[in-house]
Amino acid sequence: MKLGNIKKQRERKRLNSIYDYTLDELKSQLKPSFRAKQVYNWLYKKYVTSYDEMKNIPNDLKELLKQEYPIDILEIIKREKSSDGSIKYLFRLRDGHTIEAVFLLMKKKKIDENGQIQRSEKFTVCISSQVGCKVGCSFCLTAKGGFVRNLTVGEIVNQIVQIKRDMQIPENKSLNIVYMGMGEPLDNYKNFVHAVKVFSELDGLAISRRRQTVSTSGISKKIERLGNEDLGIQLAISLHAVDDELRSELIPMNKAYNIQSIIDAVKKFPVDTRKKVMFEYLVIKDKNDDLASAKKLLQLLDGIKAKVNLIYFNPYPGTSYQRPQSSDMIKFQEYLVNKGLLCTIRESKGLDISAACGQLKEKELNGST
Ligand code: SF4
Repeated sequence: MKLGNIKKQRERKRLNSIYDYTLDELKSQLKPSFRAKQVYNWLYKKYVTSYDEMKNIPNDLKELLKQEYPIDILEIIKREKSSDGSIKYLFRLRDGHTIEAVFLLMKKKKIDENGQIQRSEKFTVCISSQVGCKVGCSFCLTAKGGFVRNLTVGEIVNQIVQIKRDMQIPENKSLNIVYMGMGEPLDNYKNFVHAVKVFSELDGLAISRRRQTVSTSGISKKIERLGNEDLGIQLAISLHAVDDELRSELIPMNKAYNIQSIIDAVKKFPVDTRKKVMFEYLVIKDKNDDLASAKKLLQLLDGIKAKVNLIYFNPYPGTSYQRPQSSDMIKFQEYLVNKGLLCTIRESKGLDISAACGQLKEKELNGST
């Protein structure tokens, strides 16, 4: 065997974890196969952190599992709670690198048929897919540290498990996942797709694929590939600009995959009948906040079941970009809504807790709190 292959095999072994596997994969590897379901139950419904806690698993199997399928837990090294209920987590991986995930809380009020106010809470978790990122967006702190490595399937999955455990979220409480944290999920394609499958296992976390949204900076050929797999997940595109010049300034990868190529790929993507493709548009003062941009956006999205999410740019130390005026945001939104396009302005969730990706990690590295 070539040295490179041995190294790769060792690396795989070093990083493997029980959280890497779908239920079918575990069933095919554990004897008798029903043990796989029991293990899944302990991991994803009871959130245990050691095989010794799995009471119905025989000791000899526990020993094998400890050797071959370590329970690789992400260590929570920091959490920041915002006044709006969002919590930002900083995790340490086994090799010492750190990643972030954000728990977002949406409170809803609804009047029922008896005229009573019904309150409900919606949980969404934004997770990371890579340590660092290759895309290099100019507004992003993660980009500044460059790319380090892809997350394994287990590291993607364990972010949700640890947050559910930490927040004591009951197993049957539904949860949404957005792949919108550090990294470009489609650049870690295989592991991301595998994680989607692990999350949606009914005997595990049972997070429906319709509740999982991948947010991409627009790698057109991977959007097409994902569309062909027809996984049933939702798609969000970080568009941010309507002309290639500005978009290439904001997202250098736009030089390889320009706006038109993204729009063409999205048009082929299978969209659930009750859903829409989300276009994220980060509004930056005097860059893309004018009505001419709104008009161009409308033209671009013609023929797509689209929803636009306008996001206030959230300034951070060292950036030259500025937060837009609320009045300009509203004019932009009104223009699109009046033309029949669904458009929301995203509340700056967690504004006071370093909301843009990479900010908590940056603070940790600088030693500030
Ligand atoms: S915004 Fe997202 S895609 Fe762009 S550099 Fe940051 S992590 Fe990567």
